[in-house]
Amino acid sequence: MTLTFADLTTMRVGGPVGRLHVPETTPQVLELLRQVTGDGDPLLVMGGGSNLVVGDDGWPGVVIKMASSEFDIDGELVRAAAGVVWDDVVDATVRAGLAGLEALSGIPGLVGGAPVQNVGAFGTVTSEVLESLSVFDRQTGQLERWTLDRCGFGSHRQSVFKRNDRWVVVDVTFRLRRSDQSRPIDYVDLARALEIEVGGTAAPAEVRAAVLALRRSRGMILDEHDHDTWSAGSFFVNPVLAEVPKRARDCPRYSDVRGTKLPAAWLIEQAGFRRGYGHDWGNGTVALSSRHALALTNRGGATTADVMKFAAHIRDGVEACFGIRIGPECDLINCSF
Ligand SMILES: Cc1cc2nc3c(=O)[nH]c(=O)nc-3n(C[C@H](O)[C@H](O)[C@H](O)COP(=O)(O)OP(=O)(O)OC[C@H]3O[C@@H](n4cnc5c(N)ncnc54)[C@H](O)[C@@H]3O)c2cc1C
Repeated sequence: MTLTFADLTTMRVGGPVGRLHVPETTPQVLELLRQVTGDGDPLLVMGGGSNLVVGDDGWPGVVIKMASSEFDIDGELVRAAAGVVWDDVVDATVRAGLAGLEALSGIPGLVGGAPVQNVGAFGTVTSEVLESLSVFDRQTGQLERWTLDRCGFGSHRQSVFKRNDRWVVVDVTFRLRRSDQSRPIDYVDLARALEIEVGGTAAPAEVRAAVLALRRSRGMILDEHDHDTWSAGSFFVNPVLAEVPKRARDCPRYSDVRGTKLPAAWLIEQAGFRRGYGHDWGNGTVALSSRHALALTNRGGATTADVMKFAAHIRDGVEACFGIRIGPECDLINCSF
């Protein structure tokens, strides 16, 4: 049977996979990258496929699905290869008595994908705990050691790696703290779950357990039996505007280095698309998660074309209501809306 991106991504849509490689060590990753770069073949690097939607025609070129598994804890420094499962790293560091990653528990995907969109949750973002990365430059064929200043973090879910096939993240080093107390908890719902004041701390293992429980209640932990989790996470990015239109004056707002950031989930819900919306729209194969308005979910049998049609419907409804055009947060390959 032909392997498709529906088999490799968490939204479970997408057509045939070209030539798939699954390198299990970093030397294998580097050898492959050098070979593909030399041959000039189109390349798609992927991890867990949890932030990726590929078109129904698939990707005809080379696909490298990272599976490199080197992992090392040296004092407060933690180095993991791009193919290590993200949550395994979080779990191992919490068990080793290190604080820093606990709020990022339960995020799907692999280590290499984390800096690409500077993943974040419950008030922590990856760049706050990153020390350095090994990056393969496909233009020069060189492996380089990068510090944070080169990564282009700073704005919501941004980095120089995003939608840029020049650089491949090969491994990541985190600087954590040996401590029995977590980072300060600034996220209200998490503080409430832990029964502490906002800004207070708790044991990292307790924070991890509370985060996993909260995520599960929101359909943000992968579960093959739960269609609310058949998604690419947050499908739309929170828009950052120089000026907020009058029609959106009631929208909560946050300052961002580029302007004012608005929560896309609020815009979607206030435009009339409630959680769960979509079951009786179109052919009903795609709907908003019943627990999270930002997640477009595959209810079973969806194609990428169905997802794109639904995404355009939501985007246009938000634009008609507020005059604000929202765009994708996840990476779209050979598809658009
Ligand atoms: C249920 C659910 C919940 C989620 N919750 C969150 C959340 O709380 N916070 C959050 O920030 N995100 C969340 N996400 C999104 C997603 O899990 C993260 O963005 C994750 O880091 C993606 O990693 P991945 O390995 O799956 O990347 P993939 O989806 O495989 O790839 C994503 C992009 O990164 C590129 N890429 C992957 N690996 C590399 C590499 N080694 N070098 C260069 N480029 C690479 C790919 O080419 C692609 O463009 C969620 C997703 C789902 C499905």
